[in-house]
Formats: sequence, C-alpha cells, structure tokens
Amino acid sequence: MKSNIILMGPPGAGKGTLAKRLIAKYKIPHISTGDMFREAIKANTKLGLLAKDYMTRGDLVPDDVTIGIVNERLAKDDCSHGYLLDGFPRTLAQAEALKKLTENLKRDVNLVINIDCDQEELVKRISGRRVCKNCGAPYHVLFVKPKVEGVCDICGGPLFQRSDDNEESLKVRLSNYYNMTKPLISFYEKSGNLVNLDGIKGSDYVYSEAIKLIGE
Ligand code: ADP
Ligand code: ADP
Ligand code: ZN
Repeated sequence: MKSNIILMGPPGAGKGTLAKRLIAKYKIPHISTGDMFREAIKANTKLGLLAKDYMTRGDLVPDDVTIGIVNERLAKDDCSHGYLLDGFPRTLAQAEALKKLTENLKRDVNLVINIDCDQEELVKRISGRRVCKNCGAPYHVLFVKPKVEGVCDICGGPLFQRSDDNEESLKVRLSNYYNMTKPLISFYEKSGNLVNLDGIKGSDYVYSEAIKLIGE
C-alpha cells in the first residue's frame, strides 16, 4: 500500500472531497493546512491571528509558518503508518522542506495525486461550496447536497460558507495556484510519484482511481 500521500490541485478541484473518503477507508491522518488554519482562527490563537488576513485575501500564508506547522504534525506518532497531505505543499520552498523532513523521519512521500479541473468548473464549485463547521467535510448547494439541508451527513455539524469562497479571493487563489503551486507538478514528475486524475469526471471516478493507486 502507498500510504504517504499528497493531494494536489487547484482550489475547488475536489481534494477535500476525496480526502474524506480516503481517510474513512484507510484510517490515516488527514493533514489539511487550510483546516489547521481555520481551526486556529476559530480558537483565536496566535497562528490564527497571523493566518487570517492572508486567507481572507486569498494569499498564501508565509512559508516559514506553514512549514512549521506541517513539520510538527508529520513528526507525530500517528503518521508512522501513513498520512494524507491536502493543500500542502503549495510552493517550491514547501516542497523542498517536505522532502528534507520526510527523509529525516523515514516517511518519504510515495504517491502524489494531482487532481486537475478547468477554471469554469472551479468557479461553479467554489461559489456553491458549503463546509461542515465541525469536521470540514465539503458539500455543494447544487452538486453535492447533504441528506438534510444545512447539516453534515458525517457528523451532524452545521454547514457554512467559507468567508474566502467569494469571487475576489478566488481570483487571487487561482493566480497563486497557477504561479506558485502548478509548477510543483514537474517537481514531483521528476520523483516518479505523480499521477494526474481528471477532476471533471466526478468524485466517484476520482475515488475509484485513487484507491487503485493506493492499493490495499
Ligand atoms: P482550497 O479549498 O481553496 O484549496 P484550503 O482550505 O486548502 O483552500 O486553503 C485555504 C487558505 O489557507 C489558502 O487560500 C491559504 O490562504 C491558506 N493555506 C492553506 N494551505 C496553505 C499552504 N500550504 N501554504 C500557504 N497557505 C496555505
Ligand atoms: P478542494 O478541497 O480541492 O478545494 P472540495 O473537495 O472542497 O475542493 O470541492 C469543492 C466544491 O466542489 C465543494 O462544494 C464540493 O462539494 C464540490 N465537488 C467536489 N467534487 C465534485 C465533483 N466531482 N462534481 C461536482 N462538485 C464537486
Ligand atoms: Zn461534519
């Protein structure tokens, strides 16, 4: 089984949606830097205060801060049998730091799943996204409705619209993605661990391809 995994792709491609299904099957920790920052904001910590303005604008939180929280998280015991990184790395500096860290920990990345999706679809997905306040599970007002309106199927938590899921912030996030994160595709192509999946084909397709790649 390939269990040291990175999920990459533009905002709205379906990383969080795939992550929720994979962690239910494989029981490995889901490390979403976006979720970690949102939790810190909710808890009013120093990290939350720092991250908030960047996130509202759609900008990336500075590398040293983001690398710091991932270093701490990946070193924990529960990552010894695998981990699912979602939304990290997003810059070359983050990818290089991750390489060093996972080498030191002997927890090398062995699979990078890159979910691609065209921009028109990303805008539709992001503008209708609703997220569970408790567990972060993503839903959509048209495409992925919960069984009961406004309530998470998984944990019963309330759904809300992220404050950065607006047109202005999305523009910044997309341009950051194309300028800073997309170039990482060739970084991971060189390592031989990268697989591209077509995110427009739907979440069942993406999930079934992903479990074939991960194995049992
Ligand atoms: P999306 O669902 O749009 O892909 P995320 O929940 O992953 O967004 O991230 C939300 C925001 O958190 C980003 O726009 C950015 O401000 C911040 N963030 C998340 N991950 C990173 C990262 N690896 N580096 C810098 N900033 C990050
Ligand atoms: P990311 O984590 O990459 O930003 P999400 O998993 O949060 O993306 O998905 C973005 C939005 O698109 C959510 O509202 C989600 O419910 C919806 N979505 C995810 N996958 C699909 C799909 N295959 N078809 C239609 N909508 C989808
Ligand atoms: Zn939930």
